[in-house]
Amino acid sequence: MNIQKLGWNQFFEEAFEEYKQQGFAVGRVTLEHKKIYRVASEHGEMLAEVSGKLRFNAIERQDYPAVGDWVVITPRPEEQKATIHAILPRKSKFSRKAAGATMDEQIVATNVDTIFLVNALNADFNIRRIERYVLTAWESGANPVIILNKVDLCENVEEKIQEVDSVAFGVPIHAVSAEQNIGMDQLDPYIYEGQTIALLGSSGVGKSTLTNTLLGDFKQEVQTVREGDDRGRHTTTHRELVVLEDGGILIDTPGMRELQLWDADEGFSQSFSDIEILADNCRFRDCSHKSEPGCAVQTAISEGTLDKSRYASYVKLQRELAFLERKENRQARLAEKAKSKQMSSSQKKNK
Ligand code: GDP
Ligand code: ZN
Repeated sequence: MNIQKLGWNQFFEEAFEEYKQQGFAVGRVTLEHKKIYRVASEHGEMLAEVSGKLRFNAIERQDYPAVGDWVVITPRPEEQKATIHAILPRKSKFSRKAAGATMDEQIVATNVDTIFLVNALNADFNIRRIERYVLTAWESGANPVIILNKVDLCENVEEKIQEVDSVAFGVPIHAVSAEQNIGMDQLDPYIYEGQTIALLGSSGVGKSTLTNTLLGDFKQEVQTVREGDDRGRHTTTHRELVVLEDGGILIDTPGMRELQLWDADEGFSQSFSDIEILADNCRFRDCSHKSEPGCAVQTAISEGTLDKSRYASYVKLQRELAFLERKENRQARLAEKAKSKQMSSSQKKNK
């Protein structure tokens, strides 16, 4: 397997240099299952486990490999096995809150170049949801592309595109029908050798249909795996990262399908730049945009240039982010504590 086809590039090459000099190899994680990883590399595909050292130094879930990661390995091709020693820096990552009360960050996919935000142009069309997805995408570090699927069911496509455009500045928007193969060639420019793609969108919008089109001949394999999963069996042929026949790499993990809003500070400003620009024109610097005189936000709402519900979702998301941030800071302090504790105990051992 040529690793360029798997998405290898200059960014990772530079990060790998020091390991290369020490004689290590490199591979990309295509599946994670209970801390056993499937890794694709120049030496073929292998099952891998993390080294004792990596495990010892790992504090949070994100210190472990995830699907899409480039990992530093020592391969044992004759056994089709490998040991993972390190994770190369991630260009982008999608994560979500892990189940439960703690705020463990669970990474569902990494090193995604382009994220297709899939929405349907029928009754499910929801501009607020699109707004949220764009936010998640910006925060991840991947480039968002909005796909409005089921164009065959929509009579006012141009209107919808304009509506989406008003909440997604500078994000490309494509109206297609995955099922009826309308406008699908608009997606070609995003899918080529070395480019990693993932799909995000609510259930029923057409992700599977779209995925199957992209997969082409791989389709059969994926379907068999799904059937296996339903009966609770684990099949080893299952990959969540697939190199497409005509170039491009597709990541499709279960976690990707149930992504939640994580910390999205940076993406937040980008997504709501219209409101932040307005807010710059408020008379008071610390304007709360409620009842202050000279509030540009309230003026825009009353004049109808700013949609009231868009402002409401801005406020709501801001509140959620503040909540996440407080929790996350606490989590970071705990992790820091754990790390220093671990370090002092290993120093003692070394004495
Ligand atoms: P997913 O839950 O996002 O994976 O959605 P699916 O791919 O399973 O599609 C949900 C339903 O929408 C299925 O019945 C598909 O046949 C249908 N569907 C998908 N794409 C289109 C489309 O372009 N036009 C129409 N009319 N239906 C579609
Ligand atoms: Zn104001």
